[in-house]
This record gives sequence, C-alpha cells and structure tokens, in this order.
Amino acid sequence: MTIKLYNTKTRSRVDFAPIDPDNVRMYVCGPTVYDRAHLGNARPVVVFDVLYRLLRHTYGADHVTYVRNFTDVDDKINARAAQSGRAIGEITAETTQWFLDDMGALGALEPNHMPRATQYIPQMVAMIEELIAKGHAYEAEGHVLFAVDSWREHYGALSGRSVDDMIAGARVEVAPYKRNPMDFVLWKPSSDDLPGWESPWGRGRPGWHIECSAMSHELLGESFDIHGGGNDLMFPHHENEIAQSCCAHPTGDFARVWMHNEMLQVEGKKMSKSLGNFFTIRDLLDQGIPGEVIRFVFLSTHYRKPMDWTAEKEVEAESTIFGFIQIVADFCDFKSVDFCKPSQKVIDALANDLNTHVAVEQLKRLRDSSKGTQLACDLLFLGFFDREGLQRRSSEYQEVCALVSPLADRLQELRREAKETKDFTQVDRMKTELLAANISVMMSNDKVVLRPEKDFDLAKLEALK
Ligand SMILES: [Zn+2]
Repeated sequence: MTIKLYNTKTRSRVDFAPIDPDNVRMYVCGPTVYDRAHLGNARPVVVFDVLYRLLRHTYGADHVTYVRNFTDVDDKINARAAQSGRAIGEITAETTQWFLDDMGALGALEPNHMPRATQYIPQMVAMIEELIAKGHAYEAEGHVLFAVDSWREHYGALSGRSVDDMIAGARVEVAPYKRNPMDFVLWKPSSDDLPGWESPWGRGRPGWHIECSAMSHELLGESFDIHGGGNDLMFPHHENEIAQSCCAHPTGDFARVWMHNEMLQVEGKKMSKSLGNFFTIRDLLDQGIPGEVIRFVFLSTHYRKPMDWTAEKEVEAESTIFGFIQIVADFCDFKSVDFCKPSQKVIDALANDLNTHVAVEQLKRLRDSSKGTQLACDLLFLGFFDREGLQRRSSEYQEVCALVSPLADRLQELRREAKETKDFTQVDRMKTELLAANISVMMSNDKVVLRPEKDFDLAKLEALK
C-alpha cells in the first residue's frame, strides 16, 4: 500500500517514500506555552496524530519518530509573566501540562520527543554560528539576523511568494540594523529582567524560527520525511525554518514533505474573543463535551479544508458516537479486539492524503451492519477511545440496558392491566418517568421496547427500579 500525501512544497500529491522505512521521521510545530490551547490549536494535533497512527500501522510502531516541540521562551510568555507577577518557569510548566492533558483528552498520542526550546539553546547558538560562518547571517547591535538576500532565489518557494512581493505586502518589522526589511531575527539581546543565555553576541535569547530548525536537526537529522503544522505557519515561520536549515546544512534536504492543515472557524466565523466564539479545549470538556466528540467533529472534515465548528455538528457527533457505543456494547467481542486489524477501507481512506471524512463514513457503515468488533477496532485505531475507555462505556450501556429490561416488562404488565380497567394513569406516569431519564419508549400492540438515549440518567433510572 502506498500512502499518498499532498506536499505543499511541490503543490502536488506524492507517493510517500520514507528516507529510511526503519525510522520514518516527522516534525510538527508545537504550542507556545502561555495559555490554554484553543480549538484551532488542537486541529493540527489531532490531524497529525492520525497521520502518526497511520505511519505506525504501516511501518511498525517502533519505526516512526514523531517530534513536536514546546516553545517555552517567547515574548508572549514574558508578557504573561510580567502581567500576572508569576515566574516564567511556573507558567510554562503549568501550561505544558494543561496542553498534554487537554490533547490527551482528545485521544492524541504523545509524540516520541517533546523538546522544549530552552533545553536546546547550545544547538541554536551553534546553528547561528554556522549561518554566520557561511555568510547567511550577520550580527547587528546585539542581534543576529538571517540575511534573506543570501538565499533570495529560494526564499518564499514554500508559500509561493517572491521576496519583492513579500516586502511590498508584508507587515515586516522595520529596524535600522536590518540589511533587508525581510531579514529575520535569529538571536536578540535580553535585558536583565528577561530570560537570557550567554552567547558570542552577548546575553540574549533565540528568535522563534531557529528553535524548530535546531531541534529538528538534533532529533531527526538534516533530512527527514514530514514537516507539519497549520497553514498559518507557512509564512514566515516555515519559510524561515527552511532558509535556516538548508543554509546551515546544505547537504541535507531538511523536510521532504510539507503538510499544512487549514484553519478552523466557529459557526462560519473566525474564532475571536471579541465575537464571543472563542473556545479552549478545556472550556468544551468542562461543558461536558467529551474529547471523542470533539475529535469526531474535527475528523469529519478533511484537513486541507477549512473546518467549521458548529453546535449542530457537535450535537450530531455526540449522538453518532453514542450509536457506535450501542453497537459495540451489543455486538463486540472484546477478547478479539486485542488481535484485530483496522478495516482496510479505513486504512485506504487515510492513505489517500488522510481522508478522515471517508474513514469516519466507514465507521457508520460498520455501525449500520452491526459489526461491533470491527467497529471497536477501528474506533481504537482512529483514537476515539482507548481500550479501557471503550470497554467502560460499553459496560455502562449494558448496565443501563439490564436496568431497563425489567422496566419494559413492568410497563408491559401495567399496560395489560390498564387495557382491562381502562385506567391508563399508571402507564402514562411510568412513561413520563422513563422519558425524564432519557429512555425512549416504543409501544406496539404486543411489545414494549425501551431504549436508552445518549444522555440516559442512571440515577433516575435507579429510582424507578
Ligand atoms: Zn516550527
């Protein structure tokens, strides 16, 4: 099976062929840790988690190296510390843990390496020295800048812009010490109250872009397979990563395949605090929206299409997921799940440039044909649940069904009596109570069927016993 991926660099779908199938290497830009991750931050995490799962399935779990960084030195972090009076280290440690917890709730596996920028300062300094030595960077007033003119014919190739277009359209920071307004910071001076490290250019801190170049080089080498991130990072961040890495290590290719996910909107609008449609993942989890539902909404849209988060989709996803649980509870043999393989249709869909929309449709087909074991297997493979979580949800549902079953008999009996006495008060009361516990009631001539709905209320049901 060949995995096809859309490569932003060539603007075409390519047959993915890893440099070394024994060690498939992927780097994805991670968060700057100063606040909770919002919905938009989570999209690339979920998208590249699915790719990671596909690569592990294809090449073997021990033959894939996935790196996602934490940016723990940044002016936004410094500003947050100054404004809150808290220590920088405290803020970054807390936010890093929040991120891991929230992404874990969305079913994202932890990457093999999660380097923190502050642990790779010597590698960044070495890379900057290399760039200066090769004539691609220069020191000016305590800053070190990348000289875009030294790479002019390549700069902008990823995002399809020329340096001249960029200068014309960009909001670049004009500084008197820059040779070209597009030159970007590799290193900048730090005052005593800001985080800083000794360097050949005085006490200072790295620019954002150099982090990813230095960390990916250290952990994945000068050529690796896939580089991912949101398409908002394509310019300038990824463009600058390419310039730095290719100039410092001209014998390497840096990343061969570049993948970018599209942005996220909420109810058709850009998410913003002023519009009141800004959600963090934690906000949604705290509202009782389970992680697998958020994941389901994300994966229903292809990663290269804009994703519109709507309340309607969320409600629909919740009931779809509940429908999956019902089928798993009724038809899954959990002993077989440990030895099962994901459906070929799911694998084929993902191998087709990560077509998660089609993969999710396959789940619905398994539901409709009551293939509980295969459905469980695919749900686990796609990261909607872990084994324990799925089995727990399935048992809870079975527990409710066990509670409901004698109630159906009782209602049937009450109805039989009511038909004789012509007094339906008790039947109606029981029906009302069942509906209040979110148990749907279907009565035909000879049968009463009770079915727990997604928000079934176990306590109310217990009270009915
Ligand atoms: Zn990056």
